[in-house]
Amino acid sequence: MSLLELAEVSKEFHLGGATTVYALDDVSLTVDAGETLAIIGESGSGKSTLGRLALRLIEPTRGRVHFEGTDVLALPPAELRKMRARLQIIFQEPFESLNPRMRVGDIVGEPLAIHRPRTPARERRDRVARVIEQVGLSPDMARRYPGELSGGQQQRVGIARAIVTEPSLIVLDEPTSSLDLSVRAQILQLLADLQAELGMGYLFISHDIHTVRYVSDRIAVMYRGRVVETGPSERVFADPQHPYTRALLAAALPVDPDQELPPARLVGDPLSPTRLVQGCVLYGRCPVGEDRCVQTEVRLTPIDVGREVACIKPGAPGS
Ligand code: ADP
Ligand code: MG
Repeated sequence: MSLLELAEVSKEFHLGGATTVYALDDVSLTVDAGETLAIIGESGSGKSTLGRLALRLIEPTRGRVHFEGTDVLALPPAELRKMRARLQIIFQEPFESLNPRMRVGDIVGEPLAIHRPRTPARERRDRVARVIEQVGLSPDMARRYPGELSGGQQQRVGIARAIVTEPSLIVLDEPTSSLDLSVRAQILQLLADLQAELGMGYLFISHDIHTVRYVSDRIAVMYRGRVVETGPSERVFADPQHPYTRALLAAALPVDPDQELPPARLVGDPLSPTRLVQGCVLYGRCPVGEDRCVQTEVRLTPIDVGREVACIKPGAPGS
């Protein structure tokens, strides 16, 4: 049984008038215990919407969400609160997600106060001190306010708050995107160390393929609300099959001489998210697109063990 399972999940935002944003369209994915699934895609592809749906911070328009075998969408409020001790989230902007008027020790201890109110104060303090140490902060940081810390330290506080209730899964929504490069590497290392020590699963959201390359076990590439390619990270990086994945890699990384396919380049602009698409969402931007790409349903199809691609001619050489 997977830790997290999203099945055929769609999310539509209804704006004023008759305008609908199709933020997620029929997305299915799983995260297993102790593994990292990276969600990759450009801004607006639906990554944050997906992360929020997993915790039921927002509700899907259609589809099912299961966490630790429980139907998340059917949970009454009290049970949902309990679940959030086991399923935490870390946001991109650490400072905005921390209460500037609370001391670090209280911020980190707050989830314990909510989820384990009967824990004696002394035990709670010990647990907070232990977690502050685990994320690489010095004990005296507990008395500081978020505004007195650097961006990297603030994100360590965000991580401490997320792990204090011993979750089995953490959604990380661009956790290092707002940090300097050198700090970014330290935070990625910390997240990897904590995962090795505590065995948590990560749903790791990023728009930057560099960031996830060495921290993910599997990756799901999103475009315009759909997963267009998924598989073990090594395989996807070594041999990307979807024209969008290939374009993403070509734009981000130096050409890998071992790569089996030439890079693809996208043309034109993305489709508006307010248009419902039957066929391929990349049509019009795709260097190898044909008329039949919009005339048929284009959905994820297995191409290898654990690998799926939503393209009617995966791996076709492009320009
Ligand atoms: P990402 O995190 O990949 O940048 P998001 O999940 O934030 O993408 O957004 C996906 C799409 O849904 C975008 O077109 C965005 O504008 C739209 N969207 C997200 N949240 C809302 C909302 N609350 N109301 C309306 N549209 C939204
Ligand atoms: Mg986002």
